[in-house]
Amino acid sequence: MKREDVLRKGPYPLLIEGKEVPSLSGKTFTSIDPSTGRALAEVYEAGPEDVDLAVGAACKAFESTWRSTLPRERSKKLMKLADLLAARVEALSWIECYDAGKPIAASRAWLAGGPGTLEFYAGCLLGLSGETLDVSDKTLMDFTLREPLGVCGLIVPWNFPLSIALLKMAPALAAGNCVVIKPSEVTPLSTVELGALVAEAGFPPGVINIVNGPGDPVGSALVRDPRVAKISFTGGTESGKRIFREAADTVKRLTLELGGKSASLVFADADLDKAVAVAYTDIVRNSGQVCGACTRLLLEESVADAFLDKLEAKLRAVKIGPPEDPATEMGPLVSSAQAAKVRKYLEIGKAEGATPKAYVDLAGRSDTASDAFLPPMLFHGATNAMRVAREEIFGPVLTVMRFRTEAEAVAIANDTRYGLAACVFTRDATRAMRMVRAISAGTVCVNTGVRSSVDAPFGGFRESGIGKERGKEALLDDTQLKNVRYGL
Ligand code: NDP
Repeated sequence: MKREDVLRKGPYPLLIEGKEVPSLSGKTFTSIDPSTGRALAEVYEAGPEDVDLAVGAACKAFESTWRSTLPRERSKKLMKLADLLAARVEALSWIECYDAGKPIAASRAWLAGGPGTLEFYAGCLLGLSGETLDVSDKTLMDFTLREPLGVCGLIVPWNFPLSIALLKMAPALAAGNCVVIKPSEVTPLSTVELGALVAEAGFPPGVINIVNGPGDPVGSALVRDPRVAKISFTGGTESGKRIFREAADTVKRLTLELGGKSASLVFADADLDKAVAVAYTDIVRNSGQVCGACTRLLLEESVADAFLDKLEAKLRAVKIGPPEDPATEMGPLVSSAQAAKVRKYLEIGKAEGATPKAYVDLAGRSDTASDAFLPPMLFHGATNAMRVAREEIFGPVLTVMRFRTEAEAVAIANDTRYGLAACVFTRDATRAMRMVRAISAGTVCVNTGVRSSVDAPFGGFRESGIGKERGKEALLDDTQLKNVRYGL
């Protein structure tokens, strides 16, 4: 589909109390197409005054309707939204193709999972319940109730805009909360289109609100608002820490899904082709802008050269090009700014003594002329002390290191402030289980890549975050537990 077929003509609105509205200031910002560097759409930019209205609308909807809406009714509305979304997946895939630079084939594949997110929580919420406790004081009947929190602020990054918005919104609504969503200002368009479906799905006005604009002041206005009970944030660790600090003032509940520097451990007895395919995906998928990607590649010395020969051959053949080309595997990064950040890390790595190597030459190509395009790259000769092994680069770059013993591999894998995920490749099942125990990360994958799905919890240890997204844990994290003690 062409840009003009899927994009709105006027500025993209906010969604407040069931109505698409301009911002009170009338100010707009421009969303950029990273593959061309040209303006794609205008978007109304919210200010703190619009956030105030959105939170007010959410509070009103929570008190007047949503908290008392029967679970079965909440479930039906989520299912209806899933159906409406499924009918729009193709158009939304194109919108993210242009707004975020996602190759259209990949964009379709990711967004095809969106309706399933809503369906999973539509089902899950029907099993939500408290329990009866057999307490020691027999003059009491004691039970627990699972109650919604109230209004949840959902702050969404640019790497999987609509998918992450849905992963935050579905459990929050399922638990009986109302939401204010703040998409990244880099990629707001698909979330605005989701907002256009909520009235038809039967959600009362104010249950879902959307405010577009920058992290500061729009996101931070949500974080500071005492009426907001919870913030669910996905993004960089530094922004997450700032939100953590600001949320302390009102003791908000938090789910923080932050950065990672995950390790993939490839042992000599591994199925090398499988491990190579996963490393390739970690570089190429979404141009490496994936929090769970294993960006530290730890290879057992005796197979390192054979592994790298295979991986490098695949990387030389990757199809980089305009995201609208169905054959493109790797498009631009989300913005020139993000590509510039990655380029800076190439210099940092070189200064530290590592050698970055690119596997596709983009020089002189007119279809990848935008400076948001980068080739797939590996850092060779790195040590785990270097910044390129310690900091999240968030681009198509893996840092390669070698190890001799299992203990050395585990020590390197765990020597990080992060703890999001890890992969282990070995045919030795006993060793695999030792690794599962020894590695300190929220998700450990054996003989497969980190492919999160809505039905399994995902969330990091240490500075990778707090709480879980996905799975029934995300639903429970969006509730609070009340204990009732009834005197007999
Ligand atoms: P951020 O983490 O800063 O942004 C994520 C979301 O939070 C966006 O909606 C952003 O708004 C918002 N935000 C930013 N600051 C605040 C704040 N103080 N209060 C409330 N909301 C806020 O991502 P960046 O685009 O700045 O990227 C920085 C780095 O973070 C990247 O280079 C990458 O390394 C990492 N990152 C990690 C992600 C992950 O999934 N782990 C996802 C995205 C980025 P807005 O963008 O509109 O300003």
